[in-house]
Amino acid sequence: MKTLKELARPNIWNLAPYSSARNEYSGHAAHVFLDANENPYNAPLNRYPDPLQTEIKEILAKVKGVGAEQIFLGNGSDEAIDLVYRCFTRPGRDNVVAIEPTYGMYKVCADINDVEYRPVLLDENFGMSADKMLAACDRNTKVIWICSPNNPTGNSIDRKEMMKVIDGFDGLVVVDEAYSDFSSASPMRLRLASHPNMIVLNTFSKAWGCAAIRLGMAFAHADIIGLFNKVKYPYNINLLTQQQALETLKDPYEVDKWVKMLLLERGRMIEAFKLLPICKHVYPTDANFFLARMTDAQVIYDYLVNNGIIVRNRTRVQLCNNCLRITVGSKSENNELLAALRQYR
Ligand SMILES: *Cc1c(COP(=O)(O)O)cnc(C)c1O
Repeated sequence: MKTLKELARPNIWNLAPYSSARNEYSGHAAHVFLDANENPYNAPLNRYPDPLQTEIKEILAKVKGVGAEQIFLGNGSDEAIDLVYRCFTRPGRDNVVAIEPTYGMYKVCADINDVEYRPVLLDENFGMSADKMLAACDRNTKVIWICSPNNPTGNSIDRKEMMKVIDGFDGLVVVDEAYSDFSSASPMRLRLASHPNMIVLNTFSKAWGCAAIRLGMAFAHADIIGLFNKVKYPYNINLLTQQQALETLKDPYEVDKWVKMLLLERGRMIEAFKLLPICKHVYPTDANFFLARMTDAQVIYDYLVNNGIIVRNRTRVQLCNNCLRITVGSKSENNELLAALRQYR
């Protein structure tokens, strides 16, 4: 692996970060705060929130089995994705490699940051070849993006191939595990100690049921987290989000219950889809959604919209011709979808 200094943008490596009022005093017990030009009234919303979200990270460290210093919290995973580009890729010079098809934000952020994006097509079963991924890299490749379970395909990427990429690449590998709560595979974040070039993404938006609060997690070596903290907006996680995250973390069993119900529903939906004459194939999934190849995805999508039911039409995505991506909903939502599809003529 290259050193972090070799991988980081030179201006970011040398950056002296903004020092906020709440950063500067630290550790001392205090009760009079006249340092941040806040209004003394309207507690608790009058105070700037903890810029490093210490309380959440201490709890998350236990829940996720990583060190608190290995955690970055962002305004959704999307903030962490953007920070990877802003910390490690030089606009107009560096490039990144990613599996294709996958989550669209990796490419959008590459385009915004003027970084070349090199998609490497998965095989017809959505499997990844480590050799193909590594062959797409050159000396300006800083980051490889792997999403597992992958969106929109739903399948997990083969662990051996994934490890071959991580061990064979001299830059950073981001493993996006937004859906790992729905998979029985052991989470990649637990392998951080032996793979310091890995960044693992998790989110509160899916299994944790908190898409509205915008809270994403990145797990990585403390030095990488340090670079993210230098570049992020000082108070990137607002107080209401921090409070709700603490509330959610009090009851992780609730999340387990949701996951179990969704997995049962997923099995039921897949069996029902297989019996629909308009469904040609359902792909294997380890996520809270599945990809189904239909007779005519566009016409069926339009029909569902007219019935007030929205699924994701992926027919124009590479390898996903005539595919709809179906999120597993509540039992009654799922039943409405099935009833509509059974009436489709
Ligand atoms: C939904 C999703 C996320 C979550 O993004 P947030 O910004 O945290 O809501 C991240 N990665 C993938 C692949 C996703 O599908």
